[in-house]
Amino acid sequence: MLYTKNGEPAGLVTNIQKYTIHDGPGIRTEVFFSGCSLACIWCSNPETIAPGRKFGIYPNKCIGRDKCSWCVKACPLGGAPLLFDGEGMLSGIAPAPECADCYRCAEDCPSRAIKVWGELYTVPELMEIILQDKSFYARTGGGVTLSGGEVLLQAEFALLLLEACHAEGIGTCIESALFVPWESAERVFALADLVITDIKHMDSAAHEKITGAGNELILENIKKTVQMGKKLVIRTPVVIGYNAEEQNIRATAEFIREELGGNIVAWQLLPYRKMGTEKYDSLMQPYPLEDYTPPEREEWEANLRRLTDIVQTEYGLPVMAGSSEKLNLE
Ligand code: SF4
Ligand code: SF4
Repeated sequence: MLYTKNGEPAGLVTNIQKYTIHDGPGIRTEVFFSGCSLACIWCSNPETIAPGRKFGIYPNKCIGRDKCSWCVKACPLGGAPLLFDGEGMLSGIAPAPECADCYRCAEDCPSRAIKVWGELYTVPELMEIILQDKSFYARTGGGVTLSGGEVLLQAEFALLLLEACHAEGIGTCIESALFVPWESAERVFALADLVITDIKHMDSAAHEKITGAGNELILENIKKTVQMGKKLVIRTPVVIGYNAEEQNIRATAEFIREELGGNIVAWQLLPYRKMGTEKYDSLMQPYPLEDYTPPEREEWEANLRRLTDIVQTEYGLPVMAGSSEKLNLE
């Protein structure tokens, strides 16, 4: 568990998104936690992968050192870690050990050319934000979704937050990759109304290539989630050239039918969209699928339709193309 300087339990959060409609039913507030146990090559939230606070750099927002220089003035190291190009525009940061407890340059930058991914929040701080939209949750059957990164890496804090949501009568959803010890998942899931997870590939070696880890633990945890009686949505981001082949979709359908008894709320086949590339730039990291050109819309739409037809007609599973369709949680 992380703590604030005052000793209060805290969660390290990279983003709080209001009015989301894709990750659980109704209108939701979504809290993204820092740190992940996988590193998927198409991740659109790369700021959540490595745990801890980190810089995001947006050089095109920099006003210029000659005109501004607030970051340098704020820096206890005289601006040594801050990098500027020949025109005096911010071009990067080479963080010093002192940066980890500082981030004053980001606080003082008037144009947000420097930002920090990851802030510590206490439960009351998060609840203050969550409660602002309580009436929307009530009207739409929505609530709060804890996502990431991998929220279960901060399981103790997630439990405190879920307890606070339940005390306010707010619905809860956990979105997890499930590459965690079952004990963490079980305790948190006990307080979750809905669980969303992914099956990215049924072949463990292929799964390791696209996520950094095999799929055995994930599949075992999915079985245990269903045995626990949890409402479960499974997702497969369908990326042509990586996991979109019919054989893999059929293998996944067989797993859901045979090992889970078909006991899921929905299986959503999601189209891959090249998203989050500007975040990789801000982190000064290469985007793993930089050279990958997604097929035209007609191609992936036709492919998703074909795959959902196969799953519906041959396996009888509640499959959906995309995440816009209403979830039946009865
Ligand atoms: S985080 Fe602090 S020490 Fe590091 S560059 Fe920014 S102001 Fe300087
Ligand atoms: S404070 Fe921000 S805008 Fe000003 S020079 Fe530094 S990075 Fe550029």
